[in-house]
Formats: sequence, structure tokens, C-alpha cells
Amino acid sequence: MAFVILDPCRGEKSGECVSVCPVDCIEEGEDQFYIDPDICIDCAACQAVCPVDAIVEEYDLTSDQEKYLTLAEEFFANR
Ligand code: SF4
Repeated sequence: MAFVILDPCRGEKSGECVSVCPVDCIEEGEDQFYIDPDICIDCAACQAVCPVDAIVEEYDLTSDQEKYLTLAEEFFANR
């Protein structure tokens, strides 16, 4: 499992999450930040500091939100 960054990050991109991640798995994309689901260790540190509550556990994604996990997977697959 992993944490996933959702659409409130778009247009916000405040980036507090990046500096608290203990495994350095959050990177900036063109529209939002992304969490690498293969590296995330589910510590929740990023979720606690996000000012727009954009970060959720993969387990809690609604069907409408699952596309953001796919976007993250594609972001890291294409690098
Ligand atoms: Fe990094 Fe922890 Fe957030 Fe995963 S849950 S992206 S390991 S800070």
C-alpha cells in the first residue's frame, strides 16, 4: 500500500510533504506532487503536514480518486 496525492495539490503544490518524507519518495510533477507507490512506507508523515488535505491512503481511495494512483504510477514509470 501507499499514500496518494489527490487533486487539491493541483494549483497548490505547497511541497511541505517533500521535506518530511523519510524515504524521499515524493517528487514534483508539472501539475502536482506525486508519491512513488513502490517506495512509500505508509508512515503518514506527509499527510500530517499537507495544508490542503490532499494526501490519502491508497486503501481509502474512492473509485473516483483511483485515477490519482494511476497518474502516480505513470509519472514514476515514465522517468
Ligand atoms: Fe513518504 Fe511516509 Fe508520505 Fe509515504 S506516507 S510518501 S513514506 S511521508
